[in-house]
Amino acid sequence: MTSIRSLAGACLAALASLCAVAAPASAQNYPTRNITMIVPFAAGGPTDVISRIVTAHMAQTLGQSIIIENVVGAGGTTGSTRAARAANDGYTLITGHMGTHAASVPLYPKLAYHPEKDFEPVALLAGTPILILARKDFPPKDLKEFIAYVKANAEKVNAAHAGIGSVSHASCELLNAILQVKPVGVPFNGTGPAMNALVAGQVDYMCDQIVNAVPQINAGTIKAYAIATPERNPSLPDVPTTTEAGLPAFQAQAWNAIFAPKGTSPAIIATLNAAAVKALDDPNVRKRLLELGSVIPAAADRTPEALATLVKNEIAKWTPVLKPAT
Ligand code: ASP
Repeated sequence: MTSIRSLAGACLAALASLCAVAAPASAQNYPTRNITMIVPFAAGGPTDVISRIVTAHMAQTLGQSIIIENVVGAGGTTGSTRAARAANDGYTLITGHMGTHAASVPLYPKLAYHPEKDFEPVALLAGTPILILARKDFPPKDLKEFIAYVKANAEKVNAAHAGIGSVSHASCELLNAILQVKPVGVPFNGTGPAMNALVAGQVDYMCDQIVNAVPQINAGTIKAYAIATPERNPSLPDVPTTTEAGLPAFQAQAWNAIFAPKGTSPAIIATLNAAAVKALDDPNVRKRLLELGSVIPAAADRTPEALATLVKNEIAKWTPVLKPAT
């Protein structure tokens, strides 16, 4: 006669296999098809470039293509809204950043998503120092002259940015608040196209992430007045820090990171995080990111938990800076 104990054992085993069948197939052998990575800005800008470098390596690890989809508009909040509302099955992700996942909170009272409540943090990809850049024939020769010039010509000068709440917008808002100027803002769908306008001399200046700027500065097609970090950047050894150049109050470094829609399974998040971390340890990926001036996150800063803390801290940091601008 079957003992109670063996019956219970058989029942448990049956239950376990039932659970295994019921578990979403996507979490078991993820990924089984292409992954879409939303980049909420135009192709060729910093977020796009960093995403492409890192996801090309992640795709090899994951054994599936990662297709970049540039969903532009409203300072990156259009693409971020799309990502927040996507299925949480690991097949739609977003590269968000200091703008979409922090600065946009105080700037958009009706933001359709909340960076902390509507996303699962996956991995920080790169820190991106901010530079004060200008068209190459902009009259000021150095940062001191730049400050005097924009103050004296406040109504005439314009500043390009990638839409309200983007990094270029938020960091120039900080600069403008320090200088007490209000230049005319010229919005683009990303600083890729904004950089083209700067190179063409169609706009005066811009606060941009380093990734976009290194090739142009080195080619002499634009001017760089200063980098807003405590140290100079190895990829731009001749560009002074804002402290060296006389404006120590202006400190700004952005960041780009992968997020998944809220509720994406922990197993999928762990798989994606491991692939991102592996990419950041790859010598070729590192070389390309470093050549463009990015700061590669240390091991302790690469976990989903560390990214959650960064988002929380960045919202707290940018809210008082940007609130008066709304
Ligand atoms: N990260 C944006 C881009 O890739 C620009 C920005 O946020 O300023 O174009």
